[in-house]
Amino acid sequence: MNVSPDETPNRLKLFVDTVGCQMNILDSELVIAKLRAQGYELTTDPLLADTILFNTCSVRQHAEDKIYSALGRVKKIKQRRPNVAIGVLGCMAQKDQDEILKRAPFVDIVVGPGQLSKVPELLEKARAEKKPQMAVSKARYGGSKLEIVESFEEFDPIREQAMRMSPYQAFVRIMMGCDKFCTYCVVPATRGPEQSRDPLDIIEETKLLVDQGVSEITLLGQTVNSYKYTTTDGRQWRLSDLLLALDGIPDLRRIKFITSFPKDMTDDLLQAVRDIPKVFRYIHVPAQSGCDEMLKRMKRLYTVAQYDEMMARIHETIPGCAVSSDFIVGFCGESEEAFEKTVRLVERSRFKNSFIFKYSPRRGTKAHDLYPDDIPEETKKRRNNDLLAVQNAISMEDNLALVGNTFEVLVEGPSKSFQGDVDTATGPVQLTGRTMTDRICIFDGNPRLIGSYMNVKVVSVTGVSLFSEVVTDRVSHVKPAQWSLPVIS
Ligand code: SF4
Repeated sequence: MNVSPDETPNRLKLFVDTVGCQMNILDSELVIAKLRAQGYELTTDPLLADTILFNTCSVRQHAEDKIYSALGRVKKIKQRRPNVAIGVLGCMAQKDQDEILKRAPFVDIVVGPGQLSKVPELLEKARAEKKPQMAVSKARYGGSKLEIVESFEEFDPIREQAMRMSPYQAFVRIMMGCDKFCTYCVVPATRGPEQSRDPLDIIEETKLLVDQGVSEITLLGQTVNSYKYTTTDGRQWRLSDLLLALDGIPDLRRIKFITSFPKDMTDDLLQAVRDIPKVFRYIHVPAQSGCDEMLKRMKRLYTVAQYDEMMARIHETIPGCAVSSDFIVGFCGESEEAFEKTVRLVERSRFKNSFIFKYSPRRGTKAHDLYPDDIPEETKKRRNNDLLAVQNAISMEDNLALVGNTFEVLVEGPSKSFQGDVDTATGPVQLTGRTMTDRICIFDGNPRLIGSYMNVKVVSVTGVSLFSEVVTDRVSHVKPAQWSLPVIS
């Protein structure tokens, strides 16, 4: 994430640490924008900060442990400088609530993801009253549907340019929350009921981003392809309708959407991906397991046969479409046979890549209450490594077939391995960009290329990256008619 700290003295300095998904990155962007509008300035050094905020994730135990140990470290800062305000925001705040104040009583604000617009006023109140403030949304069964929905308010979409991945790319939230209730997942509790945003607001926000220089957007939703909205004129919008409307924005060049839910993969959406050139030929659609018994325990609402049928439809409708997936290994009761079925699914699906996670029980979920976490850690680790090895071999094989091909990429910035400052680089640096199938290309080029679209040719690959070279076309600077040689008499 790009952060441009402003070092003007006498303004409240803000440090924000974000863990978790793209939703969290976007939430941090919005909180920072709101605090900057109130005179705060960003710092990248927590030791200089007057306000330290952690935007947290609850999806895995590991992410929570990281935050509690970071809180242990900032406790020392608070002891030395008691006026520093400490905040815990996001999913962990919604899930743990008072537990956070019990474990870290020096925390000043605890704010769930549905209450983030209140961060500035809560910080002020905590400072004035010298006591912790909390704002969380209602529990999923804590009131009427309307009361619960209202407690997960939509955040005012003011944008903080400095927090974006790059000045040319931005996330746009089109949905909040989730109503699927997979048994292992905390999201329906932490992010509330599924709510789609008004398409006209999404279009306006995208136009604003494009005016600011963005040419690629990623539409975000927990189950983004479940998007549906009825406008006041009675028109029903699906994700395919939204893609078509966004396609009409001049200077917007690329549109991606994540994350899809298998059961909601409709034909109209696949046809939109096929027919709208601005839309990535890439779909992220988690399978989670290749075993029906596990899918039932996870309450994923589809069978393996239905997932296979969806994959066939994707490839039939959109030739060359890249698909990626998520898997949980070591879920409660997963036998070797069940795990082998997952391996088979990965082998026949030939995903571009898979994100593989070891199951970690989360308090407040059905799986936590219903099923013992009975797979030993060693077995989870082995299955994780084995599945990763199968996926990596497929990715490598499929990437090798791309050697020699040319792709257009948006040059996003320096590659991860580039050390130094692109602004002062005098020669070519290692750059990175993505193809329309979301494959990462690495190539050498002038830093001035960052933000532009260009063709690169693949020369070698790993399972993750396509090492490429910039294709330099011969450019004609004069009209063809002027090329004729002068007649010498
Ligand atoms: S679809 Fe399932 S895994 Fe995804 S956010 Fe909703 S409940 Fe969680």
